[in-house]
Amino acid sequence: MRKEQRCLMYNFVSRLEVTKMPSTGQKPGKGTYTCTSCGQSVTLDDHTDTLPPCPKCNGTEYR
Ligand SMILES: [Zn+2]
Repeated sequence: MRKEQRCLMYNFVSRLEVTKMPSTGQKPGKGTYTCTSCGQSVTLDDHTDTLPPCPKCNGTEYR
């Protein structure tokens, strides 16, 4: 594989990582996350906090 092709692929993969939605079990950092299913907000006030399942609907996907 040529060097330029590898570079393009790397950029594509890292962009996916950045835009991936946070979900239960991840540590996305401080901030307020909104459940994609019911709209419930969950606030993390420490970068070591793990996203819990949604307290309202038990959902695991946030945005
Ligand atoms: Zn929810």
